[in-house]
Amino acid sequence: MIISGKKQQRQHLEYFLGLESLKVVKAYKYLGLDFEDSLRWTLTRQRLVAKAKGRSAMLSKALSEGLSLKAAEVIWWSMIVPVLNYGSELWGAAKCNEVEKVQLEVGKRLLGVSKKTASVVVRGELGWWSMRAQRDMKRLMYWARLIRMDDSRLVKRVYRTRREKAGKRISDWCTEVHKTLTSLGLGHIWDTEEVGSEKDWKSLIKVSIQAREEKEWIEEMKKLPKLRTYQQLKFVLEREEYLETIMDNEQRRRVTALRGGTNSLRIEVGRWKGESLQDRTCTLCAKREIEDEAHVLMCCSAYARERMELYKNIQIATDYDLNSMRGDQEWLLHTLIGIGCEQRRKRHLIQLEVAKFVEVMFRKRARILDRIQDHVDTRD
Ligand SMILES: [Zn+2]
Repeated sequence: MIISGKKQQRQHLEYFLGLESLKVVKAYKYLGLDFEDSLRWTLTRQRLVAKAKGRSAMLSKALSEGLSLKAAEVIWWSMIVPVLNYGSELWGAAKCNEVEKVQLEVGKRLLGVSKKTASVVVRGELGWWSMRAQRDMKRLMYWARLIRMDDSRLVKRVYRTRREKAGKRISDWCTEVHKTLTSLGLGHIWDTEEVGSEKDWKSLIKVSIQAREEKEWIEEMKKLPKLRTYQQLKFVLEREEYLETIMDNEQRRRVTALRGGTNSLRIEVGRWKGESLQDRTCTLCAKREIEDEAHVLMCCSAYARERMELYKNIQIATDYDLNSMRGDQEWLLHTLIGIGCEQRRKRHLIQLEVAKFVEVMFRKRARILDRIQDHVDTRD
């Protein structure tokens, strides 16, 4: 951030580091940030969120007109994220659900999934950190730059003064940096200030934030019963490669919905209606099994013909005989909608075949249920 004018520079720095000398005006806008008398960043966040929402509305429109996931994601990173993170080296420690909400809404639009889809799934499939984590990264990068700065620089002097007073006042910038480092298991570096080179520091905090994000993400995932299948498939917070492999938007969307548990299967819809788990059985076959993701994918006899076709196609493409693996449901599930197959090329071929099957399966299911409903209606 380039700030001209010594006096203004000092005011600006004193302000963000929590000094009181500026408590004259209620708020003033400077370099695109709203500096408020209350030392909060509410105005800044509100303005950035409003701007980002405007841009994401344009992105939604482009997606509905056929923009690809890949192109949409480039727009997200280059035109919306910079708005949401603008100046967050300064205000980034503030908790901001509104910003997280914008990210999740865009994520759902990119994936084309229901609004009810769990946030854990949205971030999981896209391999996205929370916005807070992105801001932590920026703030800690800035802190390390500050440490490396010459001691005669004004900003460094203000930092030194504030740092010595840290802990004596309510949360200021220095306390927040200290807290963030501690949350990453790097609290000792606050004392030693041994941040090393920019490159080393970047890779250290990247790894540390990734570990913290992944831990929190897994904890969140375990809380949600509807992620029964997802919990079996997903262990690492990284982007799913099927998002690239499956080019057909509709097929890709259905695969995400199947993995992520927010779909029209009875295990999920029955939950919305308050049915007990054992009652959420499949009405399309006579197996009396719960209609969950594993059932429709590997067991339900309503799709036996389509499944035979799927296994045959997979065998032609990869040499894998999935029929012979029917006894090992866990392996099958991982191979079909996870990353069970270790060879990349074969894995991609499986993803493509499964995507076709999932679409056909859901369409057939809707047709059969319609017929059953018609039958019930005429009988009534
Ligand atoms: Zn069934």
